Amino acid sequence: MQSTRIFALCNNKGGVTKTTTTINLGYGLARAGRRVLLVDTDAQSNTTYSLLGNLEQEPTLFDVLINGTKLADAIVETGEPNLHLVPSSINLSAADLLMASAPGRERKLMRALTPIKENYDYILIDTPPNLGVLTVNAFIACTDVIIPIALTTYALIGISILESTMQELRDNLDVELPIFGVVANLDDHTRLSNNVLGAVRDHFGSLVFDTVIPRNIKVEEAHNQIACIFDYAPMSTGAQAYTKLVKEVLHRAEGI
Ligand code: ADP
Ligand code: MG
Repeated sequence: MQSTRIFALCNNKGGVTKTTTTINLGYGLARAGRRVLLVDTDAQSNTTYSLLGNLEQEPTLFDVLINGTKLADAIVETGEPNLHLVPSSINLSAADLLMASAPGRERKLMRALTPIKENYDYILIDTPPNLGVLTVNAFIACTDVIIPIALTTYALIGISILESTMQELRDNLDVELPIFGVVANLDDHTRLSNNVLGAVRDHFGSLVFDTVIPRNIKVEEAHNQIACIFDYAPMSTGAQAYTKLVKEVLHRAEGI
């Protein structure tokens, strides 16, 4: 049995499908029989809401990072076999301030995950749209980074900041931080999408997954319905693309 793969899904921009990729990869890997934990580090709590349909969980990741609650006590079941969640909450928006002078603040998530990580095959960490302390915690805790990119104008603007931040962490904090893959998303088959996809492939080469996720309203609707895309609209272009992406991820991670 190989050891746990911990993916940080990062891109310092908002609206680039970090959350959507986290959720759909989570469901897909769970349905492939893998034990999966999602960790929602974004104070906007979109992953938490899309999985549970409410934001009423206690304790949350806030209690783990700020109050010393054990991460095991914050894990909740989602109704989907093999898919667990550490929920977020709006008070995480104060984390940068509250953790500013905490010793070892960049390693809190990594330390919190250590006692439970072997219970999972994959841990997927959804991150906020900035490079603050929570994203840095995700980088330090992960074994690999997945970068979701929306195929819209300005897709690559800001990527250099993400890359230089990752390089700084490699240089200063003794982490490897390999990029596992780049997921191109929101493809609407326009000339713009094609041009941006070309630029993303030029920049990241074979790190870009072959599967490109189309813009498909069913993907968004599924989240609003607190449903899994594979149940909500199994024949949709979105569900089919995520099925292929999950296969690619398993191939890269497990060689199958
Ligand atoms: P982020 O977490 O990076 O801010 P989200 O995952 O929340 O981005 O995605 C941004 C918006 O795009 C959301 O409203 C989401 O439902 C929508 N979305 C994501 N993927 C698709 C898709 N393939 N087709 C249509 N809408 C999508
Ligand atoms: Mg998000």
